[in-house]
Amino acid sequence: SRILVTGANGFLGAHIVKEALDSGYIVRGTVRSTQKAEELKKIFPSDKFETAIVPDLIEGDYSEALKGVTAIVHSASPFAYGVSDPKKDFLDPAINGTLNILRAAHAAGIKRVLVTSTVGTTLSKPEMMSIDTTYGADDWLPLTYEQAASGTLPGFVVYLASKKYAELAAWDFAKEHPELNLTVLNPTVIYGPVIHPIASMKSLNASNLAIYSLINGSKVIPPDTVPIFCDVVSSAKLHVRAIESKETYGKRVIFTKGPGTMYQMLEIIHKARPELADRLPALPEADPLAGKPFSKFDTAIANDILGIPGLDLEQTVLSTVDSLLELEKKL
Ligand code: NDP
Repeated sequence: SRILVTGANGFLGAHIVKEALDSGYIVRGTVRSTQKAEELKKIFPSDKFETAIVPDLIEGDYSEALKGVTAIVHSASPFAYGVSDPKKDFLDPAINGTLNILRAAHAAGIKRVLVTSTVGTTLSKPEMMSIDTTYGADDWLPLTYEQAASGTLPGFVVYLASKKYAELAAWDFAKEHPELNLTVLNPTVIYGPVIHPIASMKSLNASNLAIYSLINGSKVIPPDTVPIFCDVVSSAKLHVRAIESKETYGKRVIFTKGPGTMYQMLEIIHKARPELADRLPALPEADPLAGKPFSKFDTAIANDILGIPGLDLEQTVLSTVDSLLELEKKL
């Protein structure tokens, strides 16, 4: 059967395409331009890989792109740490982009839709991740739309709000149209090898940028914005396995492997890649987050139903570092 993956040229999107092709699906990936489609076809030369151009998430017409499609994975959404216009940069494309494809799915009679959200939408307590609690599918980030649109909050917080309101819009729509069989995936910060096309290290995806800034010679340790992680290959597998899993219909699927602080990641790189020593910041005396509480997350569906444990921090960090060093040489 054929699946549609939006944002197929993104960091996670490209891995979803790869996993779906490896699992035997015909995959149609949406991108914004013919140039992006051509770049992606070079990465996936398979005749089972097709592209569709949808220039605009909010206004784009998916009727052609959905012909012959049995399931949709909607992963396209703006993700960056900076913001200039909260509505235009994040809230509108995330929320209205999600509604646009759900409406198109409904019109086309699609019976299976997956939407990529983030674990950030479950952070219901003001301490966010630094509190000894377990977040689960009933938890929601308390931030309001008005706060997010006000222009006073940092980009990352606006991004989280865009994902929350996109997710809520999706659940509302699915309540009206239960035959869409919606599942939402809520991964934590995702690191891992880059297989999608990028023009320069400056256009690296936002999450991998944190690991790159540890090794790029700037010798600055980025702040621990969200010190929990998962790896991109497992996240992509999570999406692909969920497609056929009826047990995940109507569920939020939270996915994380656990804590991963900047200090822990730097320590791993120092130990395992000593040849990088003169590019790395010195390891501080202690992890600023050591001894502080770390929240836990209910990952039962991901682990037990979909059978995805996730890679550990060391494998995740080193596979990312090795990929970024390769990329650096090529670009
Ligand atoms: P990337 O920035 O690498 O990819 C984002 C994708 O979405 C790209 O294909 C991009 O297309 C597309 N996109 C973004 N904004 C728009 C827009 N306004 N109109 C049309 N297309 C757009 O991000 P990731 O791969 O990291 O993220 C993929 C998904 O995973 C997102 O939904 C994100 O919220 C979610 N996620 C990511 C996490 C992470 O740590 N990386 C953690 C948890 C969730 P183009 O290349 O043309 O800009």
